[in-house]
Amino acid sequence: MATDLLTPTDSLWDASRGVFNVLLDQQPAAIALPESAAEVAAVVTGAIADGKRVSAQRTGHSAAPLGSLADTVLIRTAGLTGVEIDVENAGARVGAGVLWGEVVPEASEQGLAALHGSTRTVCIAGYSLGGGVSFYGRKHGLACNRVTAIELVDADGEQLRVDAENEPELFWALRGGGGSFGVVTALEFELLELPEIYAGALFFPAERASEVLHAWHEWTAGVPEEMTSVGRLMNFPPIPEIPEPFRGQSFAVIEAIYCGDPAAGEELVAPLRELGPTMDTVAAVPPAGIEDLHMDPPEPSPYAGTSMLTGEPPAAAIEAMLDAVGPGSDSHLIVAELRHCGGALSRAPHGAGALAVLPGSFLAFAVGIVPDPALMAPTRGWLGAFDDALEPYGAGNYLNFCDDPTDLGTAFPAETVAKLREVKDRYDPENVFHSNHPVSG
Ligand SMILES: Cc1cc2nc3c(=O)[nH]c(=O)nc-3n(C[C@H](O)[C@H](O)[C@H](O)COP(=O)(O)OP(=O)(O)OC[C@H]3O[C@@H](n4cnc5c(N)ncnc54)[C@H](O)[C@@H]3O)c2cc1C
Repeated sequence: MATDLLTPTDSLWDASRGVFNVLLDQQPAAIALPESAAEVAAVVTGAIADGKRVSAQRTGHSAAPLGSLADTVLIRTAGLTGVEIDVENAGARVGAGVLWGEVVPEASEQGLAALHGSTRTVCIAGYSLGGGVSFYGRKHGLACNRVTAIELVDADGEQLRVDAENEPELFWALRGGGGSFGVVTALEFELLELPEIYAGALFFPAERASEVLHAWHEWTAGVPEEMTSVGRLMNFPPIPEIPEPFRGQSFAVIEAIYCGDPAAGEELVAPLRELGPTMDTVAAVPPAGIEDLHMDPPEPSPYAGTSMLTGEPPAAAIEAMLDAVGPGSDSHLIVAELRHCGGALSRAPHGAGALAVLPGSFLAFAVGIVPDPALMAPTRGWLGAFDDALEPYGAGNYLNFCDDPTDLGTAFPAETVAKLREVKDRYDPENVFHSNHPVSG
């Protein structure tokens, strides 16, 4: 039975408790691998009867902030499968275990794009419950605000379908408020009619980072909302998993994604091209063409990261970031980046969920690979230097990017936090659901 719980003596135990950051050692009370909403309901009911809490997890991409799971039944959702794409109405319905990589190529073949994340291995459910910042976000907003219906099992073990008309407050809370309210079993969301985009990356030698990132930063001030870009410092480790010509090399990288007419995208990218990149992959591609653009590691890895939202940073902020982790700093972080946000991400759409907007103009993120425990201290040092450089321009946090327990007040206005807690008290008064970023005070 898929509702039988795994315990530490089961042969599947270790494979079932693994997460994306292999430095984490997740030890729940028990693990369930349900394959249907009815099985999820049975697991939730059984866990409550047994005095346990319940946590839903697919990839474990955001396992770090969960803390101890000693009193928690962990529901791994990979068995909640199923993808239906409604081409005529530009929408999709997916099981809660579905990853973006299972939707983006199929949608793309039909001339449709999704507000997906930077890597195919992110699960649509966790991503959307936490907000969802895609490369189309400046034009089309947060993914959570394109979700049209959610099916979940609540703290009574009941299966609910929530949308703008049914349980509207719960529907509001789920869209950006995270996994504190139940176990989601399926989601429905809008797709974009977008057969072609103009996108790719420009690579420059790391020594040119100052010139390139300043030029990119100035350029972002004048681009339309169809254009999203990322300014990055990258140090590829000298390991066999990294292909040539990247292995062991350092670059300043600009990623550009234009979701309008490709000819207009080409014109907009021209000033960046004039800087003379050594590699240039920017081209007209179908939406599936950017699935690996961001070069996120496809497999679980040992890592430590940090992130923050910033306001409109002055040139001095770019300089401070370069001093902290740029060429000459000795930083081995694989990535230190600023992702251009703003636009539709900073305007609340009609009927928005709990995460109505993403404050700030840029999403800063840095990550280091830690294959050896001795590298943790220097990696923490570089991450701290990155934070210190950008802190004066900080504008709050985006919880999907936060690997540490984070004060909700840094991610939402005070009235939103209060409303999320009211919804939590109403739908889960006993605090059964244990989320990575809990809503309870
Ligand atoms: C390599 C990488 C790239 C990323 N790129 C982006 C990006 O471009 N844009 C962006 O916005 N984010 C991005 N993220 C962050 C990502 O959105 C979060 O880590 C998100 O939480 C992942 O969801 P998950 O379900 O895959 O992770 P999990 O760790 O499995 O789940 C995270 C949390 O989501 C909730 N949850 C998941 N499934 C359910 C469910 N069925 N029911 C109830 N709650 C549930 C739970 O609270 C859980 O603790 C990236 C992360 C990584 C590691």
